[in-house]
Amino acid sequence: MAKGFGVGQWQSGERGEEAEAEILRRSSSDRLRMTAEKKRQDSSLAALARNDRGKPHASLARDVGQHRRDACATGTKGCTLGAEGEVWRQGASRWAKRRIIAEGRARIEPAVSAMQDLHIVQRAEELHEARWWEPEPGGKAHCYLCPRHCHIGEGQSGFCFIRANRGGKLYSLGYASPAAIQIDPIEKKPLNHFLPGTKILSLGTAGCNMGCFFCQNWDISKSKHDQVHSTHLPAEEVPLLAMQHGCPSLAFTYNEPTIWGEYVIDICAAAREYGLKTVMVTNGYVTYEAFHDIYDHIDAANVDLKAFTESFYGKITLTHLQPVLDTLVWLKQETNVWVEITNLLIPTLNDDPKQIRELSEWVLKHLGPEVPLHFTAFHPDFKLRDKPNTPPETLHMAREIAREVGLHYVYEGNIWSDGGNTLCPSCGQTVIRRSWHKVLENRLKHEACPNCGHQIPGHWSDSPSAGSPRDSAKFQAATRKHEALNL
Ligand code: SF4
Repeated sequence: MAKGFGVGQWQSGERGEEAEAEILRRSSSDRLRMTAEKKRQDSSLAALARNDRGKPHASLARDVGQHRRDACATGTKGCTLGAEGEVWRQGASRWAKRRIIAEGRARIEPAVSAMQDLHIVQRAEELHEARWWEPEPGGKAHCYLCPRHCHIGEGQSGFCFIRANRGGKLYSLGYASPAAIQIDPIEKKPLNHFLPGTKILSLGTAGCNMGCFFCQNWDISKSKHDQVHSTHLPAEEVPLLAMQHGCPSLAFTYNEPTIWGEYVIDICAAAREYGLKTVMVTNGYVTYEAFHDIYDHIDAANVDLKAFTESFYGKITLTHLQPVLDTLVWLKQETNVWVEITNLLIPTLNDDPKQIRELSEWVLKHLGPEVPLHFTAFHPDFKLRDKPNTPPETLHMAREIAREVGLHYVYEGNIWSDGGNTLCPSCGQTVIRRSWHKVLENRLKHEACPNCGHQIPGHWSDSPSAGSPRDSAKFQAATRKHEALNL
């Protein structure tokens, strides 16, 4: 036992007497605490048995601390008081029971009704009906946005937490409700061939449709909508915020953005008005039914290809590999989205050279040699804390293999190395030099190598936005409204 007062620790004999004294001290304080708790419960029960003159129903519930929703003595909807019914049968007079019940109802019912009213007001303001769902018998909703195909009962939400069935309709709880807003360098997404050296306004919400044990944003991705601090940010205000902070593009990132695809689509429509670009940082777990609805609005994507085995996807991400490969092929064959791929290498789980070779060969065969591939370093996080950080040598090895296979643009990320530079595949010269997420030097000339003229694929310059909105009343109002975000 690693921590606490487990037998193994004390048998080691390292701290013999001191340890024993500590055990005695703790067990005696535990006993005192338990006795005090027992006394408190006894006095609550005794008070009830004495009919506890006129105590309101709610405080009785708190006092007793024994809850059974289905056995509420007063029949008050939603009340958790119940187990004390036993005590009443033992000790209370019929008169006292009636009085307590009447008082309880009188106090609780107006409060319950006020709360229900409040709930309705919140619904009207926040709930946004989802797309990509169909009703099912029994009030269920079938969500077909991602390959999980959740069948969601009334009052419940899907695996991702933020698509919820209310009254037989599916709602997107993440709509206009980002839990994270930040300005990042675009190289952090990572995108190395898309507007290099620029800033990108990045948003994410609660929830996720994958269950990755190594998630580095688990504080939001594994939270429900009401467990995060989110900001109300209407879609049409997002591009204004980006322009206010000098960002030529917007990223949907941090958690899986397809699960809030309705918001993504509306933001993209607003961003287009100002010539801003849009980026998805995605796990690629989406159905074909929703794919074009979302990606037809997107300019660039970084897709996480988390491993190249079904067993890794099944055990470590709780999903499947094939739908992600399908998404990559659809992106390449059916859209104009600029695509880069990230493969986070986790020691012993997906860093086998054979697997890296197979992944690289698949990329070459199905997507071509020009799709940039980023191998990035893992650090222990969330449920995967028993694995060490990825050694830089593993990333060097992976990069070597992918280049040997024939991929032209292979990068190393999350470490300090020259593996972040863009090299010309024709003459080998460095055309863009980077340090971590910073562009130190961009030597591209007319989007080509300055040495041999080889064209380097990507989107290298920012197209001018459709007129400066800085004087518009809309822009000024949005700027004032979101000053508090302190981006
Ligand atoms: S998007 Fe969410 S609710 Fe819809 S199928 Fe996927 S996990 Fe389930």
